[in-house]
Amino acid sequence: MVSTENNVTIGSQTTPMSISQRLYPNLDDNTTLLMHCSNARFVYDLGLEQRNLWRKDRTAKINYPTQAKELAEARQAFTWLKEGSSAVQQQALRDLDKAFKNWWNNPAHFFRPTWRKAGDNEGFYVRDLSVRKLNRNWGEILVPRAEWVKFRITRNWNDIETASSARVTKDRSGRWFVSFTRPAPQIERESTGAIVGLDMGIASSVTTSDGMHLHMPKLLSPAESQRKRRLQRKLSSQQKGSNSRARTKLSIAKLAAKESDRRKDWVEKTTTQLVRNYDLNVLEHLKVKNMVRSASGTKENPGKNVAQKKGLNREILNQSWSFFRKRLKDKANSSGVVVTQVNPKYTSQTCSVCKHCTRQNRKSQAVFSCVACGYQADADINAAQNILAAGLAVTGCGGTPQALSHSDPMKRQPLEEEVA
Ligand SMILES: [Zn+2]
Repeated sequence: MVSTENNVTIGSQTTPMSISQRLYPNLDDNTTLLMHCSNARFVYDLGLEQRNLWRKDRTAKINYPTQAKELAEARQAFTWLKEGSSAVQQQALRDLDKAFKNWWNNPAHFFRPTWRKAGDNEGFYVRDLSVRKLNRNWGEILVPRAEWVKFRITRNWNDIETASSARVTKDRSGRWFVSFTRPAPQIERESTGAIVGLDMGIASSVTTSDGMHLHMPKLLSPAESQRKRRLQRKLSSQQKGSNSRARTKLSIAKLAAKESDRRKDWVEKTTTQLVRNYDLNVLEHLKVKNMVRSASGTKENPGKNVAQKKGLNREILNQSWSFFRKRLKDKANSSGVVVTQVNPKYTSQTCSVCKHCTRQNRKSQAVFSCVACGYQADADINAAQNILAAGLAVTGCGGTPQALSHSDPMKRQPLEEEVA
């Protein structure tokens, strides 16, 4: 899978989404950023000590508001603290508060908050985010007391621009990074009463039980694909460790980042539409085996370059589909939509009408034809209908999927490809 300079890959994106970019402060900025780091650390550790010293028999509570009030008093008393940014310092207390809440709510998963040490995971948050784009490769972020600080853009600008907050960090080798965070998306929707089964396919597509094929668009234009192939050929003939090879590698990485952004865009749009349209989305547990089917082809019609394609296909599709699942679940969770996963076994061989299950039902990759009842259908749609039926059995909704899924077609908004 594509991996850009800062190692952000599709599959590893967490919710809320976080995008890390390399930050390039000038000398003055560098001093200010270091001051913010040490202020944040100081306030965090002081707050921690205060909380550690607190005993149950004391009546006065300690929480974010009481600590923020004391911080304001301390800023009046100590000039050096006042010279720092109050926003940065307050955020350090919010951080601490959150660390304690995480720990209280889920002690099996979170450690008790501990001291922050100098040079160790140094950083601070920037709230009330302001960013601007200088050109294709460079952007700037407004950091308190430092004004605009440059960062290199390697991700989709729209994702950066719509971020709600950012954390500036310094790694052990002295490099600065800024991670932009976007909150989990909340989708405005009304209950539609519609439900759907989704067959995630081998041909970069999703088929719905009500008969739609949603195709991931070509990620690179013909010219871009050509350029990529040319660069890859060039790379193989270039000397290892040479500057020109490094330049070629960077160009390839940029194209890969472009592909990854476009794939992500498609996944974001499609999952948003699915969550808007359907109250229940049923999908299969990941079936890695089926995903590489296209590369190996059949006995009669073997695929070309099977080995290479397999590796590539598997990686890209797995990354895309696990990202797709993740985004669908994230959006569903925050919008009251149910996402259920079912066992993928036999969904492609079973007749969705009479439930007869045999391999002979598959006339070809594309066509389903039931040997028992004669039902004929697009193989992916038949599979999606089986997935939906299995999902209804799991969720205990019952009923016939067809009747339910068309219960109120007027409420369902058209998917993008229906409109086009
Ligand atoms: Zn049948």
